[in-house]
Amino acid sequence: MGTERKKLVAGNWKMYKTPGEAVSLVTQILAAPPPRSDREVVVCPPFVALSRVAHLLKGSPVKLGAQNVYWEKEGAFTGEVSASMLREVGCEYVIVGHSERRQYFADDNPAVARKLRAVVEEGMSPILCIGEKLEEREAGRTQDVIRSHIEGALGEFDARYLRGLVVAYEPVWAIGTGKTATPEMAVEAHRFARKLLGEMFGVAFGVETRILYGGSVKPENAAELLKEPEIDGALVGGASLKVDSFLRIAAA
Ligand code: PEP
Repeated sequence: MGTERKKLVAGNWKMYKTPGEAVSLVTQILAAPPPRSDREVVVCPPFVALSRVAHLLKGSPVKLGAQNVYWEKEGAFTGEVSASMLREVGCEYVIVGHSERRQYFADDNPAVARKLRAVVEEGMSPILCIGEKLEEREAGRTQDVIRSHIEGALGEFDARYLRGLVVAYEPVWAIGTGKTATPEMAVEAHRFARKLLGEMFGVAFGVETRILYGGSVKPENAAELLKEPEIDGALVGGASLKVDSFLRIAAA
């Protein structure tokens, strides 16, 4: 059944690309041959570019995602963006709990859980990022951190709300550093996360949930990661900012 999970390659553009640059990158992506039919491809531009990118993606197989969301439906929350706003511009995915949000913007597990709820209530799929820091890995705490991120974000949910959930295992020491987890390390973490999802929500849920790997994925290492049946795709930062490297990863 594991092979039925369609591999997903998502580009997290972080705080790169003005709306004009985003249009140019997406135009190049769309000018290339479409993604293989056994792949789902998603781009996650900055908020201000979503609308223009959504317009370009209409009718294409490439999907739109956002990098963050606020959990309230609306209100006096200056600077924030709600899930219904993201849905209305055409987002199907929303990244929640990225390690940069956890590190710089105090997105802790309860905040991640609220964001996740807002995303699923609007019918979009959360891409829940989890993963350990270097010192946590070195202290043998990788599985504890994975457990805390998964239980902290999902503990209050009923499985039926989480049907579109995607998990992204992103060891913090591998993000933007050029250091990639070996396929063995990634597979071990994915197996643990999947087992935990199975314990929380039933074995079928664990088996069906896509778990992506993220952390310095490049064209040079994408194939060896994506060939693992346990690795259901990639969340790509730096290498998603150039058309050539992103498309090579998507096709790997
Ligand atoms: C990310 O931002 O989620 C990421 C994995 O970044 P990079 O690919 O640059 O390591």
